[in-house]
Amino acid sequence: MSTMGPDMVIAIDGPSGAGKSTIARALAEQLGLDWLDTGAMYRVVTLAALRENIDLDDGDKLAELVKTLVFEVDGSVVLNGEDVSTQIRSSQVDETVSIVAAHPQVRRELVERQRQWIKAHGGGVVEGRDIATVVFPEARVKVYLTAAEETRAHRRAQEDGVTVSEEALERVARRDRLDSGRKASPLVVPRDSTVIDTTSLTPPEVVTEILKILWPPERRSLFYRGCRVAARLLSKLLWRVQIEGSDNVPEVGPVILAPIHRSNLDFLLVSNATRRHLWYMAKDSLWKSRALGRLLDSLGAFPVKRGFADRDAFDLSRRVLEEGKVLILFPEGTRRSGSRVDELQEGAAYLALKTGACIVPVGIAGSEEAMPKGAHWFKLTKVYLYVAPPIHPQQVFRGRRGHLPRSAVSALNENLRVALQHSFEMAKSRLASPLSPDGS
Ligand code: C5P
Repeated sequence: MSTMGPDMVIAIDGPSGAGKSTIARALAEQLGLDWLDTGAMYRVVTLAALRENIDLDDGDKLAELVKTLVFEVDGSVVLNGEDVSTQIRSSQVDETVSIVAAHPQVRRELVERQRQWIKAHGGGVVEGRDIATVVFPEARVKVYLTAAEETRAHRRAQEDGVTVSEEALERVARRDRLDSGRKASPLVVPRDSTVIDTTSLTPPEVVTEILKILWPPERRSLFYRGCRVAARLLSKLLWRVQIEGSDNVPEVGPVILAPIHRSNLDFLLVSNATRRHLWYMAKDSLWKSRALGRLLDSLGAFPVKRGFADRDAFDLSRRVLEEGKVLILFPEGTRRSGSRVDELQEGAAYLALKTGACIVPVGIAGSEEAMPKGAHWFKLTKVYLYVAPPIHPQQVFRGRRGHLPRSAVSALNENLRVALQHSFEMAKSRLASPLSPDGS
């Protein structure tokens, strides 16, 4: 099943200062989705009401006001053409926003706008207080972030650029009380949300936790795991394989592992780059033998008809990545020879831009010496693997943002070529003069 449908919503609820905005923004960037801060919507309405001296206890009047407002909360917050990103964070808005947000008439209007926003943006990461319970109960992932009260007060103070005081602590506590105690869509922990306490976690750790909900760890057979162990042992015994940078393969989410291709051994060797399960394409003619087909299935291969230009191959690869898995793809296409990385096939760049997967280039030095093209047997020479940092696509063209310009593919492909050349050179130089045990 694909986990990244065109209108995928990730709902993040929680009290003020739990880290929602930081996490939602980082998560959206990683997934190539847009981010919606619904709190900013309630703040805009509050600001407008304060400016127009509307009685904050008059829900009907406030709802009428909402209908007349033209505002956007895409990154900066713009109200009737004016950038009010700073004004909506003033202490006056802070103190009164929960009163405005308690009116069901106001909420109805804003919930409708939030749903329209998702339709227009083809999904997104949405943060607020009632996202999983009221706005998008069908969200793909539902998370409730929380943190110790004092931590939250500190974070809020930091955001506002002030030092934390008794008063700030009391303000956060008061807003929590109002948000949790109101009749209309109170802040509650939704039954089907995953609660994450962010008190002692860093933002990347929280993001990883959420990605693990979207892409739970894969289960593979004992046979597969045994084969991986055997591949590692063989690589060590026969080619004394050394690996640098295996931390560069993200521990969760879709990855295109893009190695150099100089030898038939590269496939086995690159499996040392990560402990994660691996998927790759193989010629469909191999499945003619049922026994071989079953073996390939259990080793993570999937059949493709012809070369990579094959539409089926592309669709299958995309599915593998949408499920958050690791796909091995040789960007050079076929085995080449020598030190230069010339023109690459565009499959890796194309898939990354379509799915949001990152590309991890892997330089493999020594495999051509161990078993060059045309050789029938291998030599016992040394091999070095240099795993480069991931290249993330700048933009993702999935669903409604589906039109992918050629220039984006060429630019990413060129980045990959340069990074692959560099990783190959690094691997070669390390093979020639290995690092000392202290890494120098
Ligand atoms: O997230 P932020 O602290 O900016 O939200 C400001 C206020 O907006 C909250 O204290 C709450 O009263 C209200 N709010 C809400 N429902 C949401 C988002 C925010 O009631 N989905």
